[in-house]
Amino acid sequence: MTAGFDTWHGIKRSDINWRPSIDPGKCTGCGMCVVTCSEKRNVFGYDIKNRKAVVLYPDNCMVGCNNCQVGCLWEAITFPKIDEVKRRLNEVIGSSTFRREFEAKTGFKI
Ligand code: SF4
Ligand code: SF4
Repeated sequence: MTAGFDTWHGIKRSDINWRPSIDPGKCTGCGMCVVTCSEKRNVFGYDIKNRKAVVLYPDNCMVGCNNCQVGCLWEAITFPKIDEVKRRLNEVIGSSTFRREFEAKTGFKI
């Protein structure tokens, strides 16, 4: 995992079940997911020999994001159910740290 992505609002990232999986039987190797996800996150790599995308650093994935899944026209990317992420979000919304961060960033009071 890349430094800086190891926690999510104080929760160990590896404890949150949110990461993409690629079905190699469906992946056409178009590369859309590789370019959709930012280089900074570096979640995907590309296996040139087999002409398939591969998940290199799954825990670098932004919690709750599914942009690569939406962009994959061949429906080769799946994610776990969003329920756990929502449950975790409710936990952190209740924390004063998250509240302070959110209000400072957005200007909204929650
Ligand atoms: S967008 Fe889908 S089909 Fe294209 S490389 Fe990624 S997983 Fe494979
Ligand atoms: S969901 Fe978002 S952050 Fe995660 S791998 Fe896909 S594009 Fe990258």
